[in-house]
Amino acid sequence: MDVTASSLSPRRLTRQISVGSVKVGGDAPISVQSMTTTKTADVEATLAQIYALAGAGADIVRCTCNERAAAEGLAQIIPRSPVPIVADIHFHVEMALAALEAGVHGLRLNPGNLRKPEEIRLVAREARDRGVPIRIGVNAGSLHPDIYDRFGGATPEALVESARIELAYFQEVDFDDVKISVKASSVATMIAAYRLASETFKHPLHLGVTEAGPLPGGLLKGTAGIATLLAEGIGDTLRYSLTADPVEEAKAGRQLLEALGLRERTGLDLIACPSCGRAEVDVISVATKAQEALIALDIPIQVAVMGCVVNGPGEARHADLGIAAGRRRGHLFIRGQIIRVVPEDEMVEALVDEAQRIAKEGIEARLAARDVSAEADAAADRAALLDAKGVDANNASQVIERIRRRDEH
Ligand code: SF4
Repeated sequence: MDVTASSLSPRRLTRQISVGSVKVGGDAPISVQSMTTTKTADVEATLAQIYALAGAGADIVRCTCNERAAAEGLAQIIPRSPVPIVADIHFHVEMALAALEAGVHGLRLNPGNLRKPEEIRLVAREARDRGVPIRIGVNAGSLHPDIYDRFGGATPEALVESARIELAYFQEVDFDDVKISVKASSVATMIAAYRLASETFKHPLHLGVTEAGPLPGGLLKGTAGIATLLAEGIGDTLRYSLTADPVEEAKAGRQLLEALGLRERTGLDLIACPSCGRAEVDVISVATKAQEALIALDIPIQVAVMGCVVNGPGEARHADLGIAAGRRRGHLFIRGQIIRVVPEDEMVEALVDEAQRIAKEGIEARLAARDVSAEADAAADRAALLDAKGVDANNASQVIERIRRRDEH
């Protein structure tokens, strides 16, 4: 059965805010964010990365605003950016004000290092007057020292308290256009902190496991934290923090939301069996080649690559399109129905060709145009394989016999 959003806990309703053209919170689709790694002052390089991130699925992109040249870069980047831009601010109140002047669609403030209440209120007043939202971006690694000492460490309670104090400063100047993050590099701490934040605040939550590290471990940590919370209905926007090309962050965010049924599929979803003793082909190689070829087509389609015809078409019957290997041939199927049988070395080519036809003509038309003799051919292959391998793909009876003989010696 397909996983759909309705199988998850209902989403906890938060207040909706707008980051430029992207709504965050309430019933808005959960958005994907990432951050550029270029010098923001290098306008062309930063814009190239922003376009790459938007192409990979980022709805909002954050750029650091750490110096005057960065703020000036933002002023040039913003009118040419395909997605809203958020300025990341640490330590320097004047950089927050310069970013607002540059026309950013959102600010991220770190309460751990922008500490003076009068400066916080000043930025909030300016953001309020310009209608620009602010993310209160608490980070376990840079928690305000007073809070750290009061709670005896960067506990979930300490992270939420830091956000609460910052929010109170904002509210003093009647500013409530806020989203909140309480990130930690510990997945368990982060999960507990967001659960508490979700009970404490009505504001949208920006999810993330901070400093998750390089692939693949960083991806696992990010997914463990973010997916757990999303499944509980917590979270309105997210960012993977990977030590990798930020395009990987955007791709991961998008794919996670699609896998959970929280965003519509916009590109390829390739599923493949893990392979086993029954496999009639090198599944890893075929799946990798198919993925490379199909990704380039940019078609929203689910494609299955299955190692054997005995179980493959049945197990992947929900896929829009698939191929299963058997007796040096590939059984091409649409929604579980065999439509064509092709030589093994043409499997990838046949998949790509059929995906393009589906995109052009639709699934029903392609099913109607199927080769009517294909099902009989496929049945013959399945029967021959079952005959050859039976249900015992590992030849267990012969192996047991050999083990027994060893015991006798
Ligand atoms: S589809 Fe066939 S080869 Fe792949 S895991 Fe299932 S039984 Fe094994």
